[in-house]
Amino acid sequence: MRRRWRCFHCDEVFTREQDAAEHFGADQGALTACQIKGHEHLLVQKIREQEELIRSYLHEDATVLRAMAAMESDHAHALRRAEEDGYNRGVCDMLTLPATERAALTPEAPADAR
Ligand SMILES: [Zn+2]
Repeated sequence: MRRRWRCFHCDEVFTREQDAAEHFGADQGALTACQIKGHEHLLVQKIREQEELIRSYLHEDATVLRAMAAMESDHAHALRRAEEDGYNRGVCDMLTLPATERAALTPEAPADAR
């Protein structure tokens, strides 16, 4: 026996599950399509609610994306700063060494470069 769904608002009968789902909505609390269609004011209200929901999602995404970009920038700046501090510390340490020790640490140029 084929399954059938009858709407108790408009008495329409659906034999295909996807048609019934479209009419009845995604969950128990959803308005049926005939309820939405039957009241133009309600349809406009639903569209406005959806618009507001989309707007809030877009705003939320933009806020999250801006925060992520700021964090990436801060991280890159901190990384660059740490590299520069390490390099500067190494130069300062090298300058405090006697010239003979400094020369021993300096890599020799390859023989073919002389
Ligand atoms: Zn209906």
